[in-house]
Amino acid sequence: MAGRIADPWGARTPYPRGGEWPVRIDEHTEGPVERWVQSACVLCSHGCALDIGVRDGKIVGVRGRGVDRVNHGRLGPKGLYGWQANNADDRLTRPLVRRDGELREASWDEAMDVVVERSRESLAAKGSGALGFYTTGQLFIEDYYTLALVARGGIGTNHLDGNTRLCTATAGQSLKETFGCDGQPAGVHDIEYCDTLLHVGINTAETQTVLWMHELDRLRGPDPPRSVVIDPRRTQSAQESQVHLAIKPGTNLAALNGIAQQLIEKGWIDRQFVDLHTIGFDALEKTVASYTPERVAEICGVPADDVRRAAEIIGEAEHLLTFVLQGVYQSHQATASACAANNVNLLRGMIGRPGCGILQMNGQPTAQNTRETGCNGDLPAFRNWQNQAHVAELAGLWNVEPAQIPHWGPPTHAMEIFRYAELGSIDFLWVIGTNPAVSMPELHRIRSILSRDELFLVVSDAFLSETARLADVVLPVALWGEKTGTFTNTDRTVHLSEQAVEPPGEARTDMEIFLDYARRLDLRDKDGQPLVKWSTPEECFEAWKECTRGRPCDYTGLSYDKLRGGSGIQWPCNEEAPDGTERLYQDLTFPTFPEICEDFGHDVQSGTTFTEADFKAMNPQGRAILKAAEWTEPHEWAKEDYPFTLATGRTVYHFHTRTKTGRAPELQAAAPDAWAELNAADAERLGIGEGDSVRVESPRGAIEVPARLSGPREGVVFVPFHYGYWDVGDDAGPDGRPRAANELTMTIWDPVSKQPIFKTSAVRVEKAG
Ligand code: SF4
Repeated sequence: MAGRIADPWGARTPYPRGGEWPVRIDEHTEGPVERWVQSACVLCSHGCALDIGVRDGKIVGVRGRGVDRVNHGRLGPKGLYGWQANNADDRLTRPLVRRDGELREASWDEAMDVVVERSRESLAAKGSGALGFYTTGQLFIEDYYTLALVARGGIGTNHLDGNTRLCTATAGQSLKETFGCDGQPAGVHDIEYCDTLLHVGINTAETQTVLWMHELDRLRGPDPPRSVVIDPRRTQSAQESQVHLAIKPGTNLAALNGIAQQLIEKGWIDRQFVDLHTIGFDALEKTVASYTPERVAEICGVPADDVRRAAEIIGEAEHLLTFVLQGVYQSHQATASACAANNVNLLRGMIGRPGCGILQMNGQPTAQNTRETGCNGDLPAFRNWQNQAHVAELAGLWNVEPAQIPHWGPPTHAMEIFRYAELGSIDFLWVIGTNPAVSMPELHRIRSILSRDELFLVVSDAFLSETARLADVVLPVALWGEKTGTFTNTDRTVHLSEQAVEPPGEARTDMEIFLDYARRLDLRDKDGQPLVKWSTPEECFEAWKECTRGRPCDYTGLSYDKLRGGSGIQWPCNEEAPDGTERLYQDLTFPTFPEICEDFGHDVQSGTTFTEADFKAMNPQGRAILKAAEWTEPHEWAKEDYPFTLATGRTVYHFHTRTKTGRAPELQAAAPDAWAELNAADAERLGIGEGDSVRVESPRGAIEVPARLSGPREGVVFVPFHYGYWDVGDDAGPDGRPRAANELTMTIWDPVSKQPIFKTSAVRVEKAG
């Protein structure tokens, strides 16, 4: 391995507290560049700004944008090399329609006629609830907003969700529970001002590589922040920390309750802030009182003194910045734990000022937009499905009757969509830009659902993924760089990505496909006019701006022109904040008013949905909500037959199911196959050496992969979830040498966010024969 593959973070550029993070322009090109086209990276939620290098109508490289607030010119390995996937020779260039059991090339007219005919049949036979849409965290705002209008306002189905359900549903949900609305309180520049970092279940070094560069340069500069890390693995950030709580998987909530207990007992809380700006303190104090360091030590399997020391560091902080990710979201008691992380900052009164705040990180690059536009379980622009005024407002924007927009219950989440497809009430499923045949839990079940004769499966993708191979119709799509649009990173920074090259063959943009679908289905508004009023991405963006007017994610101050040339800009961006908003809640008023909030919230212990009356009875009125829950044992935990706990996760070189990064030669060469990480002591006990083939088996399936002896705590096995079967021969695959981590995971989800749990499956491990 060479260069930025061997050293994913590049050279250090240290800076002091309060100083500006120096610019460093990272670039990788293959030969000369004729012109540069403005864009940003879509291979993780950090959204690093870059320019795309073009020569002879082909993408030939990228260069970080030094002017941008997010990355100051830097790119990680995925950003530097991921674009190569656009040029892969197995791009889909024509639609495919299954005939006589085979996927065969067809014209767009033929393919869309089949899709529309089947849609009409399902609508006529069963109504709008027969159609389901399962989208992604990788499209642009313009694609998503068109889809949300078509599905919710046109067809009138409640079955629209994103694969963001699998990655960051809990991020959005915890923000709704605590603050009344989605949207990250902090911004990445808070790294420059913090004196203490808290990482809970997040491995920024691998998942948001440039974010880690930003942190690491602070850690290497004068007056570095102190750091506490809660994670079963000894990640890069754990190695840099003062205290690493290597907890047992499934015990995040106990650890965070333990920290809250110490903060309260030692008087390290900001009582005035708590009294003036939060509700729920008494219940929280009562709940966490029993989580003494000794009890936490017993539950989490860490030394009690480390719990005390972690709480002390947080208790002494003056500027605390907290990061949370999948180690919480995909684990047991996900929402309750993410809220417990929010509680820590609120108890300390550390929000809404420089260096203080919370980043409930996203995983995928445009997951924020999936949530904002209503493609992930809420109504567009963070509207509340239980609020009749919100529904009426949306109906007015779309010129449809309020009853046309499903709001009799919460939008159907992905795990339910697949259950309905299994039972047959959904018999038309359109999968857009995602690969559930590798990414969903318990893959043998997912494959059997997607293969049902009764299910008509449409897949939009740029490649013949594991899911596309099971489809009835495959629609070839334009990738990033081949279309124009906008997207928003974790810290609310909106970037414009301009079209640099033409898509290959007949591939079309997702927005174009949805527009064509709406036209062919003849979807109309209540005046008989075509439902979708736009035909270009910019027109769609203008409509989206109107949809966000006055909402917390207000985009009305943005335009394509304003986003051209300079840095990305954070929402809310409007007349009051024409340059965007670095951090939310600077006036310490939270959107917990019943007429504004996105969600009336839940009992985070049981998942019970609160009604408007419940919410009003709590009377938060602009105060944040401290939510408390007791730790409980995970549904499945290491036991006699299955003595290890499996945690699935990510590597720095790949994104999602490798549909793109597996086709970037440097990235693929860096990590060509799955593996299982074991603690060295466990491996020695089992007679397993580095590189030995091991069989990892759960009650649901098994995989055989090479062993790596590395950083998880004893009793934990880590397997990256990126690997399916598209790039291995016939004797591999689920019936040959299975390697997909989700062969092992279970069909179970968090009661509040409905996010599947990927981090606590019980497994056994043995040396393969
Ligand atoms: S940190 Fe994320 S957005 Fe930035 S270059 Fe890497 S993959 Fe792309």
